[in-house]
Amino acid sequence: MDQTPRSQHLHDTIEDYLHVLPQIRTGLSDQSAIEQRQQVIREKLGATAEEWSDYRWQLSHRITSVEKLSDLLPLEPGTLDQLSQVSERYRFAISPYYLSLIDPADPDCPIRRQSVPSIEELNPEGVLDPMDEEHSSPVPSVTRRYPDRLIIKVTNQCGMYCRFCQRRRLIGETDLAVDEATLRAAVQYVREQPEVRDVLITGGDALMLSDQALERLLQDLRSIPHVEIIRLGTRTPVTLPQRITPALVEMLRRYHPLYINTHFNSPAEITVEAKAACTRLADAGIPLGNQMVLLNGVNNNKYIVRRLNQLLLTLRVKPYYIFHPKTVQGTSHFWVRIEEGLEIMENLRGYTSGMAIPTYIVNGPGGLGKTPILPNYLLYIGKDKAVFRNWENKNFEIENQPNRVQHDPGHFE
Ligand code: SF4
Repeated sequence: MDQTPRSQHLHDTIEDYLHVLPQIRTGLSDQSAIEQRQQVIREKLGATAEEWSDYRWQLSHRITSVEKLSDLLPLEPGTLDQLSQVSERYRFAISPYYLSLIDPADPDCPIRRQSVPSIEELNPEGVLDPMDEEHSSPVPSVTRRYPDRLIIKVTNQCGMYCRFCQRRRLIGETDLAVDEATLRAAVQYVREQPEVRDVLITGGDALMLSDQALERLLQDLRSIPHVEIIRLGTRTPVTLPQRITPALVEMLRRYHPLYINTHFNSPAEITVEAKAACTRLADAGIPLGNQMVLLNGVNNNKYIVRRLNQLLLTLRVKPYYIFHPKTVQGTSHFWVRIEEGLEIMENLRGYTSGMAIPTYIVNGPGGLGKTPILPNYLLYIGKDKAVFRNWENKNFEIENQPNRVQHDPGHFE
């Protein structure tokens, strides 16, 4: 079909992306290889197909020892010692499902990089708690950094322990759910703060709580009239999608308005199972958002992030944040420069749907909070006009309005 000059030009602006697209590995494009690997892992672990699909089986069979890992995943000679050294300092746990996403032929596999310990974790650079969460906790398990919302951390457990985790100081040696009395005190704190209208339940991973324990907490929070919305933070759709059972979803839908933020970092994580999990949640009317962390060697690439965000929209997950990595000790090999994040943002705006464009965030150290970082589109603002550049680097200006008689829409005392 003939292209108008403008259509041809628009096509040309994404020619580079179209060229690399077939080379971007996704969990969906890799499905048959993943299924083969799952078959092998299942046989080695002696699991039936039914057990494999049960999140309790996945959790209780997480790979937590170097010996087990080396039995299930070919490792470079010489790395066993290194892995043992690292695992003595920082524990690891990988669900058999997430392990099956690793491409053993790819030494730079983004799944491997996020899940398998690396000797680089012993680099002492960084700090344990760059967010100073310990000092923004009015009562145990509550973090409060903003005026109208707060976090309740309900467990230190996760489906997998991500190698870049900002809360690795809390992961500890054993999985611990917060006890009932502490949770009750956290809810009581919320009850006594009428300005708190938004509560985020997280951990660890909020969906490591049993359905019953989570429902008790949701009921308690829903009994507080000033709690308008409840959010859950969970990476289970990515690392343990079996957790999103029909029973869980039926329970969650009784506590609307309820939002879930999940955490995909790579198109390789978008699998048939992850898609089914997100579909179940979205079908229950739960709005889904994605909080990606920008990670060296995983997603610090403009094409990978564009593809990830486009695929997330097909799963009905809205890309919400891209977090600049925090300087957590043991994660220095994941750190990136701010320019890399800006380049990614520059290559989203205009090149793909606005829906696929999250906010790039740097967290102010010491609890100073989320601060957006944007490429600069406003070049000048004066009394009469403002000058901008658009996504194609074309400049334009608009009139700035003169002061007019102000009409205040609110008449507040
Ligand atoms: S799921 Fe989240 S809290 Fe748990 S280890 Fe991964 S990044 Fe950390």
